[in-house]
Amino acid sequence: MKYNCNIIKDLLPSYTDNICSDESKKIIEEHFEECPSCLKLSEIMKDDSIENSLNKEKEDVLSKHNRHVKRKTYTIGIITSVILILPVIVCLICNLAIGHALDWFFIVLTSMLLTASFIVVPLIAESKKLLWTILCSTVSLILLLLTCCIYAGGSWFFIAASSCIFGISVIFAPYIIRNIPFQKSITRHRNIIVFLWDSIWLYAILITCGLYGHYDILYWQMSFVISTYVLTGILLIISIITYAKTVKPVKAGLTIMIAGLWTGLANNAIHLLMPSIKCNGIENIDLSKGFSTIITDNAIFNANVYFTIIVTSFITGIILIGIGFILKHKNR
Ligand SMILES: [Zn+2]
Repeated sequence: MKYNCNIIKDLLPSYTDNICSDESKKIIEEHFEECPSCLKLSEIMKDDSIENSLNKEKEDVLSKHNRHVKRKTYTIGIITSVILILPVIVCLICNLAIGHALDWFFIVLTSMLLTASFIVVPLIAESKKLLWTILCSTVSLILLLLTCCIYAGGSWFFIAASSCIFGISVIFAPYIIRNIPFQKSITRHRNIIVFLWDSIWLYAILITCGLYGHYDILYWQMSFVISTYVLTGILLIISIITYAKTVKPVKAGLTIMIAGLWTGLANNAIHLLMPSIKCNGIENIDLSKGFSTIITDNAIFNANVYFTIIVTSFITGIILIGIGFILKHKNR
Protein backbone atom coordinates (compact mmCIF):
# COMPACT_ATOMS: atom_id res chain seq x y z
CA MET A 1 0.00 0.00 0.00
CA LYS A 2 1.31 3.40 -1.02
CA TYR A 3 -0.34 5.31 1.82
CA ASN A 4 -1.06 4.48 5.41
CA CYS A 5 -4.77 3.93 6.27
CA ASN A 6 -4.64 6.65 8.94
CA ILE A 7 -3.67 9.28 6.38
CA ILE A 8 -6.58 8.19 4.16
CA LYS A 9 -8.97 8.28 7.13
CA ASP A 10 -7.90 11.89 7.83
CA LEU A 11 -8.78 12.80 4.28
CA LEU A 12 -12.11 10.92 4.17
CA PRO A 13 -14.38 13.69 5.60
CA SER A 14 -13.41 16.16 2.90
CA TYR A 15 -13.67 13.35 0.31
CA THR A 16 -17.26 12.43 1.31
CA ASP A 17 -18.21 16.12 1.32
CA ASN A 18 -16.65 16.39 -2.13
CA ILE A 19 -14.42 19.32 -1.20
CA CYS A 20 -10.96 17.71 -1.48
CA SER A 21 -8.45 18.39 -4.30
CA ASP A 22 -8.33 16.18 -7.39
CA GLU A 23 -4.93 14.86 -6.27
CA SER A 24 -6.27 13.72 -2.88
CA LYS A 25 -9.31 12.23 -4.59
CA LYS A 26 -7.06 10.22 -6.91
CA ILE A 27 -4.91 9.01 -4.00
CA ILE A 28 -7.96 7.98 -1.98
CA GLU A 29 -9.62 6.13 -4.86
CA GLU A 30 -6.36 4.29 -5.61
CA HIS A 31 -6.20 3.33 -1.96
CA PHE A 32 -9.80 2.02 -2.08
CA GLU A 33 -8.77 -0.52 -4.76
CA GLU A 34 -6.30 -2.03 -2.36
CA CYS A 35 -8.08 -1.45 0.96
CA PRO A 36 -11.72 -2.63 1.36
CA SER A 37 -11.94 -1.42 4.97
CA CYS A 38 -11.32 2.25 4.05
CA LEU A 39 -13.79 1.89 1.15
CA LYS A 40 -16.43 0.60 3.56
CA LEU A 41 -15.76 3.44 6.02
CA SER A 42 -16.18 5.97 3.23
CA GLU A 43 -19.55 4.43 2.26
CA ILE A 44 -20.76 4.58 5.86
CA MET A 45 -19.71 8.24 6.10
CA LYS A 46 -21.53 9.02 2.84
CA ASP A 47 -24.73 7.35 4.12
CA ASP A 48 -24.49 9.34 7.33
CA SER A 49 -24.09 12.64 5.58
CA ILE A 50 -27.07 11.84 3.29
CA GLU A 51 -29.20 10.92 6.30
CA ASN A 52 -28.17 14.11 8.10
CA SER A 53 -29.01 16.34 5.20
CA LEU A 54 -32.35 14.52 4.74
CA ASN A 55 -33.17 15.04 8.41
CA LYS A 56 -32.21 18.68 8.23
CA GLU A 57 -34.39 19.16 5.18
CA LYS A 58 -37.30 17.40 6.93
CA GLU A 59 -36.93 19.66 9.97
CA ASP A 60 -36.78 22.73 7.74
CA VAL A 61 -39.99 21.73 5.92
CA LEU A 62 -41.78 20.95 9.21
CA SER A 63 -40.79 24.19 10.92
CA LYS A 64 -41.77 26.18 7.81
CA HIS A 65 -45.15 24.41 7.81
CA ASN A 66 -45.59 25.06 11.55
CA ARG A 67 -44.79 28.74 11.11
CA HIS A 68 -47.30 28.91 8.25
CA VAL A 69 -50.05 27.22 10.31
CA LYS A 70 -49.29 29.46 13.31
CA ARG A 71 -49.50 32.61 11.17
CA LYS A 72 -52.80 31.42 9.70
CA THR A 73 -54.44 30.61 13.07
CA TYR A 74 -53.17 33.92 14.46
CA THR A 75 -54.78 35.79 11.54
CA ILE A 76 -58.07 33.88 12.03
CA GLY A 77 -57.89 34.80 15.76
CA ILE A 78 -57.47 38.50 14.98
CA ILE A 79 -60.31 38.45 12.39
CA THR A 80 -62.62 36.72 14.90
CA SER A 81 -61.76 39.36 17.54
CA VAL A 82 -62.70 42.12 15.11
CA ILE A 83 -66.00 40.35 14.30
CA LEU A 84 -66.73 40.04 18.03
CA ILE A 85 -65.93 43.72 18.64
CA LEU A 86 -68.48 44.87 16.01
CA PRO A 87 -71.66 44.06 18.03
CA VAL A 88 -69.99 45.62 21.08
CA ILE A 89 -69.50 48.91 19.20
CA VAL A 90 -73.07 48.79 17.82
CA CYS A 91 -74.42 48.21 21.34
CA LEU A 92 -72.28 51.02 22.73
CA ILE A 93 -73.77 53.48 20.22
CA CYS A 94 -77.36 52.21 20.70
CA ASN A 95 -77.08 52.15 24.48
CA LEU A 96 -75.73 55.70 24.59
CA ALA A 97 -78.34 56.92 22.09
CA ILE A 98 -81.30 55.33 23.87
CA GLY A 99 -80.40 55.35 27.54
CA HIS A 100 -77.69 58.03 27.74
CA ALA A 101 -75.98 55.69 30.17
CA LEU A 102 -74.17 52.41 29.81
CA ASP A 103 -76.00 49.48 31.39
CA TRP A 104 -76.77 46.50 29.17
CA PHE A 105 -73.79 47.44 27.02
CA PHE A 106 -71.56 45.91 29.70
CA ILE A 107 -73.53 42.66 29.53
CA VAL A 108 -72.94 42.47 25.77
CA LEU A 109 -69.27 43.37 26.28
CA THR A 110 -68.67 40.67 28.90
CA SER A 111 -70.66 38.11 26.85
CA MET A 112 -68.39 38.80 23.90
CA LEU A 113 -65.36 38.48 26.20
CA LEU A 114 -66.61 35.05 27.25
CA THR A 115 -67.12 34.03 23.61
CA ALA A 116 -63.66 35.35 22.74
CA SER A 117 -62.13 33.34 25.60
CA PHE A 118 -63.36 30.13 24.00
CA ILE A 119 -62.68 31.04 20.36
CA VAL A 120 -59.90 33.63 20.15
CA VAL A 121 -57.67 32.66 23.10
CA PRO A 122 -56.98 29.09 21.87
CA LEU A 123 -56.14 30.51 18.43
CA ILE A 124 -53.67 33.21 19.49
CA ALA A 125 -52.13 31.72 22.66
CA GLU A 126 -48.53 30.74 21.88
CA SER A 127 -48.40 27.86 24.36
CA LYS A 128 -50.50 26.34 27.19
CA LYS A 129 -53.67 27.05 25.19
CA LEU A 130 -55.99 25.12 27.52
CA LEU A 131 -54.60 26.89 30.61
CA TRP A 132 -55.14 30.37 29.11
CA THR A 133 -58.61 29.40 27.84
CA ILE A 134 -59.67 28.24 31.32
CA LEU A 135 -58.27 31.35 33.07
CA CYS A 136 -59.70 33.86 30.55
CA SER A 137 -63.13 32.17 30.37
CA THR A 138 -63.39 32.05 34.17
CA VAL A 139 -62.58 35.75 34.52
CA SER A 140 -65.04 36.62 31.70
CA LEU A 141 -67.76 34.47 33.26
CA ILE A 142 -67.33 36.21 36.63
CA LEU A 143 -67.47 39.63 34.93
CA LEU A 144 -70.61 38.58 33.01
CA LEU A 145 -72.29 37.48 36.26
CA LEU A 146 -71.29 40.76 37.92
CA THR A 147 -72.68 42.92 35.12
CA CYS A 148 -75.91 40.87 34.94
CA CYS A 149 -76.31 41.12 38.72
CA ILE A 150 -75.73 44.89 38.74
CA TYR A 151 -78.06 45.44 35.74
CA ALA A 152 -80.80 43.25 37.25
CA GLY A 153 -80.34 44.82 40.69
CA GLY A 154 -79.78 41.46 42.38
CA SER A 155 -77.64 40.51 45.34
CA TRP A 156 -76.84 36.98 44.19
CA PHE A 157 -73.47 37.76 42.60
CA PHE A 158 -71.30 36.26 45.36
CA ILE A 159 -73.28 33.00 45.50
CA ALA A 160 -73.13 32.61 41.72
CA ALA A 161 -69.44 33.58 41.53
CA SER A 162 -68.28 31.31 44.36
CA SER A 163 -70.32 28.38 42.99
CA CYS A 164 -68.90 28.86 39.49
CA ILE A 165 -65.32 29.10 40.76
CA PHE A 166 -65.85 26.02 42.97
CA GLY A 167 -67.28 24.01 40.04
CA ILE A 168 -64.50 25.05 37.67
CA SER A 169 -61.84 24.44 40.35
CA VAL A 170 -62.99 20.91 41.13
CA ILE A 171 -62.49 19.98 37.47
CA PHE A 172 -59.56 22.15 36.38
CA ALA A 173 -57.53 23.11 39.49
CA PRO A 174 -55.34 19.95 39.33
CA TYR A 175 -54.50 20.76 35.68
CA ILE A 176 -53.85 24.46 36.39
CA ILE A 177 -51.63 23.75 39.42
CA ARG A 178 -49.64 21.22 37.37
CA ASN A 179 -48.94 23.93 34.78
CA ILE A 180 -47.74 26.57 37.23
CA PRO A 181 -43.94 26.35 37.57
CA PHE A 182 -43.65 26.06 41.37
CA GLN A 183 -40.41 25.33 43.21
CA LYS A 184 -39.73 21.64 43.77
CA SER A 185 -40.40 21.92 47.52
CA ILE A 186 -43.92 23.21 46.77
CA THR A 187 -44.58 20.85 43.84
CA ARG A 188 -44.52 17.93 46.31
CA HIS A 189 -47.60 19.34 48.05
CA ARG A 190 -49.62 19.98 44.87
CA ASN A 191 -52.47 17.64 45.86
CA ILE A 192 -52.89 19.40 49.20
CA ILE A 193 -52.78 22.84 47.55
CA VAL A 194 -55.59 21.79 45.15
CA PHE A 195 -57.60 20.39 48.08
CA LEU A 196 -57.20 23.57 50.18
CA TRP A 197 -58.10 25.77 47.21
CA ASP A 198 -61.30 23.78 46.53
CA SER A 199 -62.16 23.78 50.28
CA ILE A 200 -61.86 27.58 50.45
CA TRP A 201 -64.46 27.88 47.68
CA LEU A 202 -66.76 25.33 49.29
CA TYR A 203 -66.76 27.40 52.50
CA ALA A 204 -67.24 30.53 50.38
CA ILE A 205 -70.45 28.98 48.96
CA LEU A 206 -71.66 28.13 52.48
CA ILE A 207 -70.96 31.66 53.72
CA THR A 208 -72.53 33.43 50.72
CA CYS A 209 -75.62 31.17 50.85
CA GLY A 210 -75.97 31.79 54.59
CA LEU A 211 -75.71 35.54 54.18
CA TYR A 212 -78.03 35.62 51.16
CA GLY A 213 -80.69 33.49 52.84
CA HIS A 214 -80.33 35.16 56.28
CA TYR A 215 -80.30 31.69 57.85
CA ASP A 216 -80.23 31.10 61.60
CA ILE A 217 -77.44 29.70 63.76
CA LEU A 218 -78.53 26.10 63.04
CA TYR A 219 -77.62 26.53 59.36
CA TRP A 220 -74.15 27.86 60.19
CA GLN A 221 -73.47 25.13 62.76
CA MET A 222 -74.68 22.26 60.63
CA SER A 223 -73.17 23.38 57.33
CA PHE A 224 -69.75 24.06 58.84
CA VAL A 225 -69.59 20.98 61.08
CA ILE A 226 -70.75 18.57 58.35
CA SER A 227 -68.47 20.11 55.68
CA THR A 228 -65.46 20.15 58.00
CA TYR A 229 -66.08 16.53 59.01
CA VAL A 230 -66.28 15.38 55.36
CA LEU A 231 -63.29 17.51 54.32
CA THR A 232 -61.12 16.17 57.16
CA GLY A 233 -61.76 12.62 55.91
CA ILE A 234 -60.86 13.62 52.35
CA LEU A 235 -57.71 15.42 53.59
CA LEU A 236 -56.63 12.28 55.43
CA ILE A 237 -57.12 10.15 52.32
CA ILE A 238 -55.26 12.65 50.07
CA SER A 239 -52.39 12.79 52.60
CA ILE A 240 -52.05 8.99 52.57
CA ILE A 241 -52.10 8.87 48.76
CA THR A 242 -49.56 11.70 48.51
CA TYR A 243 -47.11 11.11 51.34
CA ALA A 244 -47.29 7.46 52.55
CA LYS A 245 -44.12 5.71 51.39
CA THR A 246 -45.61 2.30 50.71
CA VAL A 247 -46.91 0.13 47.86
CA LYS A 248 -50.17 0.97 46.09
CA PRO A 249 -52.34 -1.88 47.52
CA VAL A 250 -51.48 -0.79 51.09
CA LYS A 251 -52.43 2.81 50.24
CA ALA A 252 -55.69 1.58 48.67
CA GLY A 253 -56.43 -0.54 51.77
CA LEU A 254 -55.85 2.36 54.19
CA THR A 255 -57.93 4.68 51.99
CA ILE A 256 -60.89 2.26 51.91
CA MET A 257 -60.71 1.76 55.69
CA ILE A 258 -60.74 5.51 56.37
CA ALA A 259 -63.56 6.09 53.88
CA GLY A 260 -65.62 3.32 55.50
CA LEU A 261 -64.91 4.50 59.03
CA TRP A 262 -65.70 8.13 58.15
CA THR A 263 -69.01 7.14 56.53
CA GLY A 264 -69.97 4.68 59.26
CA LEU A 265 -69.25 7.10 62.10
CA ALA A 266 -70.58 10.23 60.35
CA ASN A 267 -73.83 10.54 62.33
CA ASN A 268 -72.20 9.81 65.69
CA ALA A 269 -69.29 12.20 65.04
CA ILE A 270 -71.63 15.03 64.04
CA HIS A 271 -73.71 14.38 67.17
CA LEU A 272 -70.59 14.49 69.29
CA LEU A 273 -69.50 17.79 67.69
CA MET A 274 -72.96 19.35 67.98
CA PRO A 275 -74.57 17.93 71.13
CA SER A 276 -77.29 20.60 71.03
CA ILE A 277 -78.76 19.26 67.79
CA LYS A 278 -81.18 16.42 68.24
CA CYS A 279 -83.21 16.50 65.05
CA ASN A 280 -82.79 17.18 61.35
CA GLY A 281 -82.55 13.52 60.37
CA ILE A 282 -79.19 13.02 62.05
CA GLU A 283 -79.64 10.36 64.69
CA ASN A 284 -76.99 9.09 67.01
CA ILE A 285 -76.53 5.50 65.92
CA ASP A 286 -75.98 2.73 68.46
CA LEU A 287 -73.55 0.65 66.43
CA SER A 288 -73.72 -2.23 68.91
CA LYS A 289 -77.24 -2.85 67.56
CA GLY A 290 -75.55 -3.70 64.25
CA PHE A 291 -75.12 -7.23 65.59
CA SER A 292 -78.87 -7.79 65.71
CA THR A 293 -80.17 -9.86 62.85
CA ILE A 294 -83.85 -9.19 63.51
CA ILE A 295 -84.82 -5.71 62.40
CA THR A 296 -87.69 -4.35 64.47
CA ASP A 297 -87.23 -0.60 64.11
CA ASN A 298 -85.44 2.12 62.17
CA ALA A 299 -82.62 2.46 64.71
CA ILE A 300 -81.63 -1.21 64.31
CA PHE A 301 -81.87 -0.90 60.52
CA ASN A 302 -79.58 2.16 60.50
CA ALA A 303 -77.16 0.51 62.92
CA ASN A 304 -77.02 -2.52 60.61
CA VAL A 305 -76.30 -0.39 57.53
CA TYR A 306 -73.51 1.66 59.15
CA PHE A 307 -72.05 -1.35 60.93
CA THR A 308 -71.93 -3.25 57.60
CA ILE A 309 -70.18 -0.31 55.89
CA ILE A 310 -67.46 -0.23 58.57
CA VAL A 311 -66.95 -4.02 58.71
CA THR A 312 -66.87 -4.39 54.89
CA SER A 313 -64.40 -1.55 54.46
CA PHE A 314 -62.14 -3.00 57.17
CA ILE A 315 -62.19 -6.51 55.66
CA THR A 316 -61.45 -5.10 52.16
CA GLY A 317 -58.76 -2.83 53.59
CA ILE A 318 -57.04 -5.63 55.51
CA ILE A 319 -57.07 -7.91 52.42
CA LEU A 320 -55.50 -5.13 50.29
CA ILE A 321 -52.88 -4.33 52.93
CA GLY A 322 -52.05 -8.07 53.11
CA ILE A 323 -51.66 -8.22 49.31
CA GLY A 324 -49.45 -5.12 49.51
CA PHE A 325 -47.13 -6.69 52.08
CA ILE A 326 -46.88 -9.94 50.07
CA LEU A 327 -45.96 -7.94 46.93
CA LYS A 328 -43.42 -5.85 48.86
CA HIS A 329 -41.83 -9.04 50.21
CA LYS A 330 -41.70 -10.66 46.76
CA ASN A 331 -40.06 -7.61 45.17
CA ARG A 332 -37.22 -7.80 47.68
ZN1 LIG B 1 -6.95 1.71 4.12
